[in-house]
Amino acid sequence: MKSKKAPNHRSTPGYRQVGCVLSAIVILAVAIQVFWTGSHGIFALPPLTIAGYLILSMVLVWQPEHFGFRYALQISQITMVALVLHDMAGSVFGVRILGASNHEGSWQNVYFGPAGFGHAVSTLGLAALHAALIARGMRCGAHALLIFVCWGFAILALYHLVFGMLLEGRVNDVAPILALWLATLGVTLTARNGRLFSSLWAGDESGRLLRMLLLAVLLFPLGLGVFFAIKVDLMVRYTLELELVFGSIACLLVPLVVWLGSVLQDRQALLLRLAHIDPLTGALNRAGLEARLDEDHKGLILFDLDHFKRLNDTFGHNEGDRVLQKVASAVSENLSDADVLARWGGEEFLILSREGTPEAVRALAETTRSTVAALPPLRQKNRTLGLTVSIGYGTLDSDGGDFKTRLTKVDHALYIAKSLGRNRSVCADDALDHIPVNPELLKLCARCDRFGPARETA
Ligand code: GH3
Ligand code: MG
Ligand code: MG
Repeated sequence: MKSKKAPNHRSTPGYRQVGCVLSAIVILAVAIQVFWTGSHGIFALPPLTIAGYLILSMVLVWQPEHFGFRYALQISQITMVALVLHDMAGSVFGVRILGASNHEGSWQNVYFGPAGFGHAVSTLGLAALHAALIARGMRCGAHALLIFVCWGFAILALYHLVFGMLLEGRVNDVAPILALWLATLGVTLTARNGRLFSSLWAGDESGRLLRMLLLAVLLFPLGLGVFFAIKVDLMVRYTLELELVFGSIACLLVPLVVWLGSVLQDRQALLLRLAHIDPLTGALNRAGLEARLDEDHKGLILFDLDHFKRLNDTFGHNEGDRVLQKVASAVSENLSDADVLARWGGEEFLILSREGTPEAVRALAETTRSTVAALPPLRQKNRTLGLTVSIGYGTLDSDGGDFKTRLTKVDHALYIAKSLGRNRSVCADDALDHIPVNPELLKLCARCDRFGPARETA
């Protein structure tokens, strides 16, 4: 079909809103930190994290593709990732290039051991979030992979918070974990229209089921882990190990659920396509047409190949099939994406067009007729058979009648076009001039024409 695109009605992704909430939370956390000094352990956001989330929310809110400072933002994001990695490397090897001071005498304490674990996952999560946004638009799957990495850090951070609260009675890193979850949601929303993640936002039952399943795989290992720890009385000693074991189960299950959702969505789309498309011509079948009847179509064109039985008898059914394919493909070239071509019966097709003025429908009907007439004729030995169609057309809203009523009238116009000698188009409203039509006379005309030369030449 011609690329006269229909308006794109895709709903706007919600990552802008998430970006706004994220920046509000960061500003609130900073304000609490400044004005309520006793809250440090719960709401504290280190300067690196504050900068990281503010840059991230700027990227989400302004959408870099439309943003003049796109490259400046990207450079700051890359710097962010580098700083986090530098920090982590400093913790692992005890050496830092930038900055000499540390907390509690050793860099290891900042990120390692039960005390540093929450800080480590939320900081690494921040780096993964930036990396995922930088990878947006790359075709190698890095974007999706990094989104799953973000989910992994967000899950581990959540498990750390809940296990710490329930088993050790400690509450810390609330603000970084909240920011990490929000930002993970925002970054996942940037892939909302992608193949892998779109099923998560599906509004139908399968979408709801998938979201429930995702929630279940997120929370079930958490509940199970806490229950297990309390029952077995492992408590404080092994909290970190329990967080890691049960958190990893959730980290593994989340990508599997998302993958399952996208596979199911693909299968569902394939089944729908198979149920709605005529396999021979690729045009819609009746079910497909009925599914699109509630769209705003105004023109109705019904056409039928002339003397198709004779074509089958002369050139064989396989050639007849090829002709049906050729006609469907040639006619669809004249249609816009908003128009619909359906195979209504054996060698009878129907077009629903967006353009609904009588002139526009007449023009499209005539274009359809001349397109088919211009197809190369079939040749066999000393026989040549040209391809033609007879057409009945009309507008859908001219008399306020419903689709079936209009179709009956257009069908009658097609009948008239046949009786007037074929290879022509007749408007449903003009066809009224031919009423009353004597059906016996029409049959006679049709039979006379069947034996007449039409476009056949010996
Ligand atoms: P008219 O000009 O009056 O429409 O004459 P016609 O011969 O085209 O009409 P008729 O209804 O007598 O014959 C239609 C033929 O279309 C009969 C049937 O065998 C053939 N047909 C229906 N579906 C298919 C198909 O899928 N493939 C092929 N090759 N032929 C088909
Ligand atoms: Mg026919
Ligand atoms: Mg027919």
